[in-house]
Amino acid sequence: MANNMRYFIGNWKMFGVPKSINILNKINTFVKLDKNHNKRYKVIITPPYTLLESYSNIFKNKRISIGAQNCYHKDNFGSNTGAISPYMVKNLGAKYIIIGHSDNRAEGDNDIILKDKVIFALKNKLKIIFCIGENKRQKLNKLTFTTLRKQLTKVLERKFEENNIIVAYEPIWSIGTGKIPQQSELQKTTKFIKKILKNIFKTKKSPKVLYGGSVDSSSIKQFTELNDIDGFLIGGASKSSKNFIDIIKNYYR
Ligand code: PEP
Repeated sequence: MANNMRYFIGNWKMFGVPKSINILNKINTFVKLDKNHNKRYKVIITPPYTLLESYSNIFKNKRISIGAQNCYHKDNFGSNTGAISPYMVKNLGAKYIIIGHSDNRAEGDNDIILKDKVIFALKNKLKIIFCIGENKRQKLNKLTFTTLRKQLTKVLERKFEENNIIVAYEPIWSIGTGKIPQQSELQKTTKFIKKILKNIFKTKKSPKVLYGGSVDSSSIKQFTELNDIDGFLIGGASKSSKNFIDIIKNYYR
């Protein structure tokens, strides 16, 4: 994948029923007709578990890739009511998986649990979108870098295949609030995250780092100059085909 390839990842969270496929059909048609798509960007959508199998089948050889939003921290089958293992996710056809979203961290996903999720997701050949980010208090107390360093080093290890891990920097104070970090701040933070990742994986290759938090068709314009950012994790605005398509259009304006 070319170095300036961008990711546009839509995280649907608790949204979507079978007929929501209309949204993806429209996005897929847009991408298909965009001659520059192959060279420029990749679209991934993470619907809820309930839609993983049907959407993965429908979009198997199409322009959109499908991923899961989470998984349980044990693999295969087990006596864990309501849980979905990475093995089960893989068998539904998903190619990607979000791990460490702040919603799930808030519900109890700690570094030990997250490491197991990463290990089992990689074992099942899922590509990981690993979310990190500081909360408002940590930001105010100038603990952003300390927080991010911990979130990365406690979970990721040199032995993991770095090519299958994308990091999404999502400041919690930015998610769903309309607040976006200042450009210079985001630039610094992205560079910092890449430095830590290179150190963990002992690689000179530039790791993939995305930004997430209140990205929409208007705020995206602020990111076009930030070359270190390899793409975006988009929550609210990914539930409308128009908003999602406008994000891509406005990024490449
Ligand atoms: C998210 O929850 O991952 C997210 C980025 O949400 P939003 O785009 O709505 O801020």
